[in-house]
Amino acid sequence: MGAQTPLEGFYNILSLSIPAMTLDRQSQSPASPEPKSIDSGILGGMRNQMSRSAFAAWAIIWGVAAGTGDGAAQVIRVGPPTCKAIALTFDMCPVRKGTGYDAELVNMLMTKRIPATFFLSGRWMATHEQEVRALREVPFFELGTHGQVHAHLPRLDADRQRSEIASAVTLLETKYGHRAPLFRPPYGEYNDATVGIVRALGLRFILWDVVSGDPDPRLSRSRMVEQLTATVRNGSVIVFHANGKGLHTREVVEDLYQDLVLKRGLQPVTVTDLLDHCEQRTNH
Ligand SMILES: [Zn+2]
Repeated sequence: MGAQTPLEGFYNILSLSIPAMTLDRQSQSPASPEPKSIDSGILGGMRNQMSRSAFAAWAIIWGVAAGTGDGAAQVIRVGPPTCKAIALTFDMCPVRKGTGYDAELVNMLMTKRIPATFFLSGRWMATHEQEVRALREVPFFELGTHGQVHAHLPRLDADRQRSEIASAVTLLETKYGHRAPLFRPPYGEYNDATVGIVRALGLRFILWDVVSGDPDPRLSRSRMVEQLTATVRNGSVIVFHANGKGLHTREVVEDLYQDLVLKRGLQPVTVTDLLDHCEQRTNH
């Protein structure tokens, strides 16, 4: 990965403690029975309860804009630790074989009304018009982009990176009428240029703090669930795939729903709700 700040290094150390799985880690997050409408004023309330300096420190650590909108360029891996919620995220990388769409998984999320965030690559969108339109219509789903052709961004110069990132954003906007402010780099790879471009495009740079490893054929359903339940914490962003490459993704998400949502009370929310609208939940 490219040059990183000390904070980034800290997060990398953190992620090393998580079992390494696949390189292209994509995620999705948990589910909730009834998507609660979350009061957008909660974050403001949190600011009021914390001193200005304490809020600034929290915001820097957790990658949230402390002021007005200048945090878009930060690389975000996790939500606030005070938030008893998690974000299930699902990457839609292009595929050469198969349908490229895990209909059973998406249908399960819809049936159980589990909020989720999908990162769509341009090449995937080009061959899944119906699916993009269907995902866009679900009120508790959020869409972001995942590059145009799923390139290794650090291997490209700045102009080509900008084109790779912006093309998928433009496609989603012009063809599907949907402006998506979230961006996740393919393979989670980036350098300083990537961060600057994402900032200039007004996008939020979303990585993850927990990988599911769902495309890894060596990982059984139970092993994945075991690892996930051990590593997920308040504010976690979990990466899965919904492009058909996840081998046990639907079952794993169903198990997580039982373990994380029903037993531990970690509410699944979209990435934006996790970052901007999460209340300080308490156990009950
Ligand atoms: Zn991907």
